Amino acid sequence: MLHAKGPLLTVDVGERTATETEIDDLLAETVGGRATATALAHERIPFDAEPFGPANRAYLSTGPLQQSQMSFTGRMNMTGLSPLTEGLVSTNAGGYLSRNFVEAGISVFEVVGESDELLAIHVTDSGVEFEEVPELEGATVPETSDYMADHHDLGPEHCIAIGPAGENLVRFASVMTFDSRAFGRGGLGAVLGSKNVKCVTFEGDGDAAPEVDVEIPNPPEMDIHREAATSDDRMRRQGTTGGTEFINDNFSLPTRYFEEYEFEDADGIGGNAVEEKKYKKGACSACAYACKLPTRDEERGVETEGPEFETVYAFGSMHGVGDIVDVMQANELCDNYGMDTISAGVTVAAYLASEDEFGNAELAQEITEKIARREGVGDTLAEGVARCHDDLGVENLTVKGMEFAAHDGRVLHGQGLSYAVANRGADHMYAGMLSLEYAGELDPEGTLGKADVLVDQENHNAFRDTGIVCAFGGDYVTEERLETLFDADYEDLLAVGKRTIERERHFNNQRGLDSADDVLPYEIPDLEEAVAEYYEARGWNDDGTVPETTDAVASSGTAVPSDD
Ligand code: SF4
Repeated sequence: MLHAKGPLLTVDVGERTATETEIDDLLAETVGGRATATALAHERIPFDAEPFGPANRAYLSTGPLQQSQMSFTGRMNMTGLSPLTEGLVSTNAGGYLSRNFVEAGISVFEVVGESDELLAIHVTDSGVEFEEVPELEGATVPETSDYMADHHDLGPEHCIAIGPAGENLVRFASVMTFDSRAFGRGGLGAVLGSKNVKCVTFEGDGDAAPEVDVEIPNPPEMDIHREAATSDDRMRRQGTTGGTEFINDNFSLPTRYFEEYEFEDADGIGGNAVEEKKYKKGACSACAYACKLPTRDEERGVETEGPEFETVYAFGSMHGVGDIVDVMQANELCDNYGMDTISAGVTVAAYLASEDEFGNAELAQEITEKIARREGVGDTLAEGVARCHDDLGVENLTVKGMEFAAHDGRVLHGQGLSYAVANRGADHMYAGMLSLEYAGELDPEGTLGKADVLVDQENHNAFRDTGIVCAFGGDYVTEERLETLFDADYEDLLAVGKRTIERERHFNNQRGLDSADDVLPYEIPDLEEAVAEYYEARGWNDDGTVPETTDAVASSGTAVPSDD
């Protein structure tokens, strides 16, 4: 099976050491990306680690396809112990980092320890340098990029960086790359913040790192490029916002902190509104699909990339705000401060609910800035809804501490089931049941009988994040093409995904998460029975734990090098 190549680079920021470890056997088993990082995290992060303690680790990893020039592969994976969910989380970002990361000659970057000083770490194919950057304390993400451009002649396509939110340990702080692309969900930005890592750059000459070369046999990349470049999908013009009105009219667009299911001003923040503000095409590295959304409003002097659908929901309908420029402004704030727009927007919505201030976009933005800086009430809100809802006097509408994505599990019951059991909580990218239910391929009503589909979807997505293929490439990078690209049967690819889910679950089990956490904060039909069906389909115990005899768990230590 095709897999990434190259060593694991471990950086201990407390000791200021860098160590390379060969992980060929591990890569042969896990392929790269999320699967490799999860196997490492499972083995090397102590089960009792504190998310903000020096023993937690953050992983940045690539898959083999990042060496191709294929559309839908400008992606990278990050994994670590989440300060939001207290379990393992993997998150995925686009942009232009992946090719530069590969050229630095490694497959996985691991950071551990805790530095006394704020650091930038520079990784090249000839070594690692630590730079103390006290002058970047409190700097926004673009200010950090400017510094790296001025002092090191490296653009944002070489960087991951955190903003003030990460430094201030906001539990949903993101790690940003290319200024506008977020490793968004789960707060890994705060994990880097806890280690005092402001920025990491990657640079190399691909020719100097032949050990990472991956050859893809007979790649269908030209066909994929051509189809991506000539597609007339609405998504190419409007990104993920293209479905806003359809979802609002036919299903649900959660509104005013979930008080309503439909937003009367959806037209003002939907795909057409976004397209009107779009001033050029935007893409990730090598991607001819180019679905990104550079937008601008000259009158109010706002320029950003996005907002995507999730931000339209989190800072639009959830706030009762129907002006796309307000949502663009909030999007830019989150990117600059380095925060997940979903968790930030939903947490601000909880605040607006508590103050009866829906519709007040100015207040929403003021509060967003306060969260990033942990000022006043922002300090409370920076903990996320699960930890601050009592103070606000609102319901805790989260799963495993993670704020809900837009796609409403109260209406899409298969998606609701997915939110309940997903190892990373209320995240829509974990299984994507929503797509099947929107398309009518699966009846949105009811939860029973959906477990097998859910398991397949989770395994597929875990492999997709391993390859790494963009979530929006499914119609082009088909199952058949995945078999060609990876020189393996689709079932074997799913098995890589399955082992990844099992390792995540087993890690979380050791931290005390079990069936008591596979619940929703609202009622949908037969959830308890459907969760039992899911455990059975997975071969797990009735209490939601993974049997110790499961292959992925039993074999965990064998391919993963210890760092003792
Ligand atoms: S489809 Fe869109 S998000 Fe995905 S890699 Fe291409 S440009 Fe990036």
